[in-house]
Amino acid sequence: MDRVLEADLQQRRQQSLYRDRITISSSCGEQLQVDGKQLHNFCSNDYLGLAGHGDIAAAFKKGVDTYGSGSGASHLISGHCEAHHVLEEQLAEFTGRPRALLFSSGYMANMGVINALVGRTDLVLQDYLNHASLLDGGLLSRAKFQRYNHVDCDDLAAKLHAADKGKSRRKLVVTDGVFSMDGDLAPARQLADICHQHNSWLMVDDAHGFGVLGATGGGLIEDGNLSMDQVPILVGTLGKAFGTYGAFVAGSDALIETLIQFGRSYIYTTALPPAVAVATSASLQLVRSEQWRRDKLVQLIARFRSAAQQIGLKLMDSQTPIQPILLGGDQQVMDSAASLRERGFLVGAIRPPTVPIGQARLRITLCANHSEQQVDALVDALDQCQ
Ligand SMILES: *Cc1c(COP(=O)(O)O)cnc(C)c1O
Repeated sequence: MDRVLEADLQQRRQQSLYRDRITISSSCGEQLQVDGKQLHNFCSNDYLGLAGHGDIAAAFKKGVDTYGSGSGASHLISGHCEAHHVLEEQLAEFTGRPRALLFSSGYMANMGVINALVGRTDLVLQDYLNHASLLDGGLLSRAKFQRYNHVDCDDLAAKLHAADKGKSRRKLVVTDGVFSMDGDLAPARQLADICHQHNSWLMVDDAHGFGVLGATGGGLIEDGNLSMDQVPILVGTLGKAFGTYGAFVAGSDALIETLIQFGRSYIYTTALPPAVAVATSASLQLVRSEQWRRDKLVQLIARFRSAAQQIGLKLMDSQTPIQPILLGGDQQVMDSAASLRERGFLVGAIRPPTVPIGQARLRITLCANHSEQQVDALVDALDQCQ
């Protein structure tokens, strides 16, 4: 076996696509400790700077005192604790929806939702750049699976129009809210209109929008003032701006009951440690009340973009904390990330298949805890690496 596997690994190395892990020895913050060296962290999804927040860590410890380290069972057996229940009610209230349901991760939420909603006789349409968990969920569902061009409403409408003539029973349109590797936004209102015209259901995975967009951190849906009729299926994750772990789906009572009955990745897995839910409740309170974190991000994004443009960097069309710099070549991206690291900056080096072939990029992410000086220093370092 190993000889066969080694051949594939070798090929991946030769293509400059090999992945290596770095090992972190500090908490997640605007600085990270790697191999005994402090690096400026410009690659985490901890957009609000909450992953290392003392109040959330204190809540986590209190949760462990109450509940111990694990839930001991799935939600449908004896793993559903009061802390999970309270958090679900808080998330329902936060999103303005009747109910919310916790999942163990965003990957599992997406697998579970799509598979509970569609099957063999149905159709799933997905944005070309959707997150892998959405694509995998669609493929596993055994529904007819199609991708429309990135944020291309005309292409989606044409595909739905063609499907209207076919015999698909249910039609599910699925999109990232904020695209994870590009930072741009789904045209949610137009997608909702098209779905309405074609009697289809719209699912938005706002993993990178929650906490960051909207007046109270309610994400793309709050930002665009969209109703539950327009976007009946809303997914959020808790490991990014919320700084903890897990995910949730928010929607109608019928949707949530359907997921409890038929969502296999909900049913057949251990419930999140309840202490994580206690920590997340504390986090949610900070997400909602500390508007300064979103204001600071807006400032840092503007500062970064203007400084980067001044030195001629090619930015993408993103107004979110995800600020990729498209380089194209896989080795070029690896070399750039390595020389940034030598200068003390950690950024994401993103290559295929995470992004399309020929579109490798540095994925720079901003965090509310970054200082203006840190952002300026990053741009200087990028200038030296050009
Ligand atoms: C990160 C991400 C997920 C996965 O969430 P996890 O909780 O990390 O499993 C799902 N969807 C999108 C768009 C993401 O960016």
